[in-house]
Amino acid sequence: MNKEAGSKNLMDKIVSLAKRRGFIYPGSEIYGGLAGTWDYGPLGVELKNNIKKEWWKRFVQGRDDVFGVDTAILMNAKVWEASGHLKNFVDPMVDCRKCKARFRADKIDVSKGCPECGIKDFTPPRSFNMMFKTFVGPVEDTASETYLRPETAQGMFINFKNVIDSMHPKLPFGIAQIGKAFRNEITPGNFIFRTREFEQMEIEYFVKASDWKKYFEEWLKEMHNWAESIGISKIYDREVPDEERAHYSERTVDLDFDFPFGKEELYGIAYRTDFDLKSHAEKSGVDILYYDEETKERFIPRVIEPTFGVDRTFLAALVNSYAEEDGGKRVVLKLPPKISPIKAAVFPLLANKENLVTKARRVYDSLKDSMVHDSGFIVAWDDRGNIGKRYYAQDEIGTPWCVTIDFQTLEDDTVTVRDRDTAKQERISVQELIQYFSERLK
Ligand code: ATP
Repeated sequence: MNKEAGSKNLMDKIVSLAKRRGFIYPGSEIYGGLAGTWDYGPLGVELKNNIKKEWWKRFVQGRDDVFGVDTAILMNAKVWEASGHLKNFVDPMVDCRKCKARFRADKIDVSKGCPECGIKDFTPPRSFNMMFKTFVGPVEDTASETYLRPETAQGMFINFKNVIDSMHPKLPFGIAQIGKAFRNEITPGNFIFRTREFEQMEIEYFVKASDWKKYFEEWLKEMHNWAESIGISKIYDREVPDEERAHYSERTVDLDFDFPFGKEELYGIAYRTDFDLKSHAEKSGVDILYYDEETKERFIPRVIEPTFGVDRTFLAALVNSYAEEDGGKRVVLKLPPKISPIKAAVFPLLANKENLVTKARRVYDSLKDSMVHDSGFIVAWDDRGNIGKRYYAQDEIGTPWCVTIDFQTLEDDTVTVRDRDTAKQERISVQELIQYFSERLK
């Protein structure tokens, strides 16, 4: 199989597994879909929440210098004038006159003709603003026009003054948030890689002008450490050239991941200078200055922005963890246990033996009681089919441990714990199960 066919194959398998096992469904599917939207199912929402939880723990709760916020998606339209998005958040769009396919002019080689039909007959490139316009209030007049946010960043810039007035941080410090962003992408595609509604995890890290280079490098390293911590490898830094950089950035590095469809941006880090705060100060007329108690100076700090797409993290985690064994019969998602949607599955060896089922239910309930509420440790129950099938079904969704209650359990209160990655089984006493899992999740 050539590489391209193999990669397509891998994406197809991931998309199909995601739908079949309740990770991700096509958006508005019963009405024929809505391009560029996807819905997360019962297992998908757990995996996605685990990614967000890990990120929040690491970058907000685990640090003294980063403050979390959760700002409104709808903001005063003046935000987007000041941020430059109204004028600059545009992509060049071309249409093929022959087959009517539409492309981003910067993502295809126009000189080679249409990627769909091969004909070289494009409309001239037109600028297309990617923000979704909407109306606030019942009357659709221009006074109440605004936009769904295309990035979470602006919610943090417009609250800069609130955060310094209420939390009194000293530079360097950051504001972080996780939330939805919306972009009317010209060509959404590659599953959840490029969608019109997605989630971002962003940090605006404010520094003194003289320090920006140092903190840029530090955050770049932090981003790699984060990816590694959730099992994502094969990330390549790409210095973004002047002509490709966003209007606010003086330096950008993209962290590209080896997706099956090519090396593409997973995350980005940008030096946004004082562009945003300065524009908001000018436009709003509000004094947005930081006061340095040591030097008695007032100034607008500079900002480093590490930005992480939640959905692209999700996709990279699936791609990285997908494995086939046993000649393709066994599919395993080798997700790090801390982000696996389900941590342990509990089975009675035989579903028709009442004493086994009763005992297994007791083990299941006790695990649920002691783990789920505190740590989001999710336990599943399965008594369908034979034990081998149940193992395979759990492997496919990345469950790291399967606990089986068998006849020996009734005698000595031990169970088997089967490890997803080694397929080895250990006998553990029921009393020690909680400790066993807690240690392995650390
Ligand atoms: P691209 O070049 O792929 O369009 P971008 O450079 O416009 O991306 P940023 O503005 O830097 O992306 O957005 C920050 C992060 O948000 C990206 O690194 C990515 O993880 C995520 N992201 C951006 N656009 C989308 C999208 N349409 N769908 C899913 N995630 C996205």
